[in-house]
Amino acid sequence: MPALILDGTKIAQDIRSEVAAEVKTMAAAGVRPGLAVVLVGHNPASEIYVRGKVKACEEVGVYSEKLTPPETATTAELLALVEDLNRRDDIDGILVQLPLPAQVDAKKVLMAVDPAKDVDGFHPVNVGFLSTQRPGLVPCTPAGVFEILKRSNIPIAGREAVVVGRSDIVGKPAAMLLLNANATVTVCHSKTHDLPGVCRRADILVAAIGRSGMITRDFVKPGATVIDVGMNTITDPAEFQRFFAGNAKREEAFRKKGSTLIGDVHPEVAAIAGALTPVPGGVGPLTIAMLMFNTVKAAKMRRGNRVPELSRV
Ligand code: NDP
Repeated sequence: MPALILDGTKIAQDIRSEVAAEVKTMAAAGVRPGLAVVLVGHNPASEIYVRGKVKACEEVGVYSEKLTPPETATTAELLALVEDLNRRDDIDGILVQLPLPAQVDAKKVLMAVDPAKDVDGFHPVNVGFLSTQRPGLVPCTPAGVFEILKRSNIPIAGREAVVVGRSDIVGKPAAMLLLNANATVTVCHSKTHDLPGVCRRADILVAAIGRSGMITRDFVKPGATVIDVGMNTITDPAEFQRFFAGNAKREEAFRKKGSTLIGDVHPEVAAIAGALTPVPGGVGPLTIAMLMFNTVKAAKMRRGNRVPELSRV
């Protein structure tokens, strides 16, 4: 039986609706959550991401402000800007869009963000809160992975979870969320021996690697839930054929656009997994939805209110 496809677009929309309702309730109490997005220079990909984030704010009723220092901005200038945002009461979330220009000490700038406003969840204080199971702000993409599992009623407690990838942004926090939810967690990386064998132990397999279609059916236990975080672009027709030959819809889109998005999981895994997130339309849409969620969560936490009900993390 082919895998159940876990519809991230639908889940993200549900979360956005819940956040919008929460924002309405807060408005009645005279509070409007606010998100500041700092976009340095003119990186085209970053501009697209930031546009998406600002649009999502408009949709759910969150106040947003885009700050656009020039490409030549110095570390000191960005620190001053972050300090100013830290002090402002109308700003609950601060997001510094990465990458920053080479002359900027990115770590220093990210460390300067008030942990209470760190809606990306990258600050070591929030990393510490997550690993010690205290309320805090959890990185958006792994929080999205977790929401997909919970909302799809995939059992986690007592199950074997394998996370491939150990980045601070995705792999490690995803592993921590699964561990906190009582899974038995294995984290793999480029030095792991017998990766397919380790992955085959998984009831829940999370792929956050950044390698097109690397997870083939040999990595997957029949019936496992497979969460594909990867977002890779294919432009080479031969590579496209290797993954998508015979997929008429994809072929037409590839012909028109000259590229297609593929995850870290090979399409053949759909024939063996129990449940699978597609790319696109799986984890991707959750990232911005969880950013909206985090902004509202930060607004409430800063005011000492109960955090929104939907937070299970
Ligand atoms: P990183 O490059 O930071 O981390 C990749 C991880 O994969 C590393 O831990 C690396 O191991 C491991 N890895 C690389 N090659 C292999 C291999 N051959 N075998 C086993 N492990 C390997 O990537 P990110 O975590 O930032 O992102 C991962 C993927 O998720 C990317 O495709 C990215 O585009 C996507 N992504 C998607 C988001 C979304 O919104 N859906 C958001 C963020 C990321 P090692 O540590 O040993 O080098």
